Amino acid sequence: MFDHLIVGAGFAGSVLAERLATQLGRRVLLCDKRPHVGGNAYDHYDDHGLLVHKYGPHIFHTESPKIFRYLSEFTSWRPYEHRVLASVDDKLLPFPINVDTVNKLYGLHMSPEEMEGYFKRIAEPIQHARTSEDAVVGKIGRDLYEKFFRNYTRKQWGLDPSQLDAAVAARVPARANRDDRYFTDEFQAMPLHGYTRMFERMLDHKNITVALNADYRDVMREVSFKEMIYTGPVDSFFDCRFGKLPYRSIDFKFETHDREFFQPAAVVNYPNEHAYTRITEFKYLTGQSHRKTSVVYEYPTAEGDPYYPVPRPENAELYRRYKALADATPDVRFVGRLATYKYYNMDQVVGQALAVFEQIRGASALGPDDARAA
Ligand code: FAD
Ligand code: UDP
Repeated sequence: MFDHLIVGAGFAGSVLAERLATQLGRRVLLCDKRPHVGGNAYDHYDDHGLLVHKYGPHIFHTESPKIFRYLSEFTSWRPYEHRVLASVDDKLLPFPINVDTVNKLYGLHMSPEEMEGYFKRIAEPIQHARTSEDAVVGKIGRDLYEKFFRNYTRKQWGLDPSQLDAAVAARVPARANRDDRYFTDEFQAMPLHGYTRMFERMLDHKNITVALNADYRDVMREVSFKEMIYTGPVDSFFDCRFGKLPYRSIDFKFETHDREFFQPAAVVNYPNEHAYTRITEFKYLTGQSHRKTSVVYEYPTAEGDPYYPVPRPENAELYRRYKALADATPDVRFVGRLATYKYYNMDQVVGQALAVFEQIRGASALGPDDARAA
């Protein structure tokens, strides 16, 4: 008899398994239908001995000292600040857009102060940015939008930016300074020995049993448990009874090249040419020295493993119906990016899982009757 069946060994499931086992002495069965732990953050050494991320580049960044401290219990870190170039008009330009991007693109020599005024002049007047198109043209105008955002977004989501929530493109800022880092969070680092090693350490506890290649529907037939924590797609838990929630997928095409480096930055984005959105070269992220180098191309698709919830009003509406069902399902908690249909980064999922753990701890401090009400 287990106290918890946790479905999914990604960040959401693994953090909860670790907390419940070590802090509350709970017996946890953690299952995943994949043959490995780590969820979409899983990394491994490929046939050439290069550390690669099976489900696309994962760069850790957070503003939260609490989340960074928590993960630091399971890994040391390699300081790493991510930088990206965008291929536009036959040039490789710093991205997110900053002063140098605009100067190199148009052959100008503006200072950061001049750039502030420039952005104000070229921005379109948008009262309330509702869509991703509004969010970008309202900050940096139509031409930069067309060159850097419109087609990338159409490829990535199969939708025009005008059909997506403002928050999607607003993940990427535009800067009137020379900061060419992708993220500005206080903590930016990669797990020194990779994500998978970090997960293995998190789950190495006598109260945690890990079952791989194990769909929870099969597991449930064979074991008994008191409570479930579910981190898979919320619609499939309810057999898609209100219809499928859209998730975007990606085909990853890996290549290894017989040279030290393939491209001049960790990631090159291709907003306009090619069917792929970006190429990532892992050695920049991992710091590995090797005479060869592995890269991954990302081809977004509608079919395949669910990777991204698609933030737009009709999907939020459909999710609300599933959430109402989830809230009314006793003894099951829904946690994580797919189960709560939120475009969350890794640190946000860790934060969400730690918050759910505090709820469980709070409820367990009450008597059984109070706990049911909590
Ligand atoms: P997941 O990692 O998806 O884990 C859910 C698990 O549930 C999966 O392993 C799945 O196999 C399992 N599962 C599903 N159904 C079942 C079932 N029926 N039975 C058993 N198991 C089941 N975040 C960042 O912070 N930085 C980045 O640079 C970054 N880059 C990303 C790049 C890509 C291409 C993608 C797709 C995501 C990226 N993310 C990044 C987001 C990050 O991957 C997620 O925030 C995080 O991995 C979500 O963790 P999770 O536990 O919620 O879900
Ligand atoms: N985006 C874009 N051009 C780019 C990079 C990003 O238009 O060169 C938009 C696109 O809609 C993308 C969103 O900004 O989906 C968020 O980008 P981010 O790099 O955060 O995406 P992720 O790493 O989550 O795939």
